[in-house]
Order: sequence, then structure tokens, then C-alpha cells
Amino acid sequence: MTSKCCVKDITGQTFGRLTALYPTKERHNEKIMWRCRCIEGNEIEVATADLIKGHTQSCGCLQRELVAQRVHRHGEAIHGNETSLYIVACEQRLSG
Ligand SMILES: [Zn+2]
Repeated sequence: MTSKCCVKDITGQTFGRLTALYPTKERHNEKIMWRCRCIEGNEIEVATADLIKGHTQSCGCLQRELVAQRVHRHGEAIHGNETSLYIVACEQRLSG
């Protein structure tokens, strides 16, 4: 039996990096905005649906990190190839 109450209680639930704290009195298109705290301590307000559907999983830091990671990985890939080639050359020497 699911109640059709308009306030879905997600207090304390985590969605990605966000933890739902409490529902605010804000309404965006009749959607309840939840006060959420990110793991960094930033607090933002997110609509319930956006949390449940996974549209919003951080205060924005997650996306920032993904972009940073992509740049980092790109740099590593070039370096990584050189390293593995070097290791292969070494192993061939040792076994031969
Ligand atoms: Zn954050």
C-alpha cells in the first residue's frame, strides 16, 4: 500500500554524494525541494524527482571532478603507454 502523500520522506537517504536533510517549503512546479548536503559540506536544494532519478547527485563537484579526471587520464594514457612498452622490452631481455 503506497500512500499518495505528496511528501515522499527521503530524510537521511543518500543519492550519489547528497544526503537528504529535510524538505523545504520551496516548490518548483509543485515539486518539493529538499535540502541536501554534499559530502563536501555544501548544501543545495534539489527536487525530489531529480534525486530519485539520479539527475542530481552532487552540489556540482562530481561533474567538476569528472572533467578533471578526464584531463588527468588523458595525460596518464600517453605516459602509461611508454611505461608498458618499456616493461615489455625489459621482460624480453630478461627471458631471452
Ligand atoms: Zn559537492
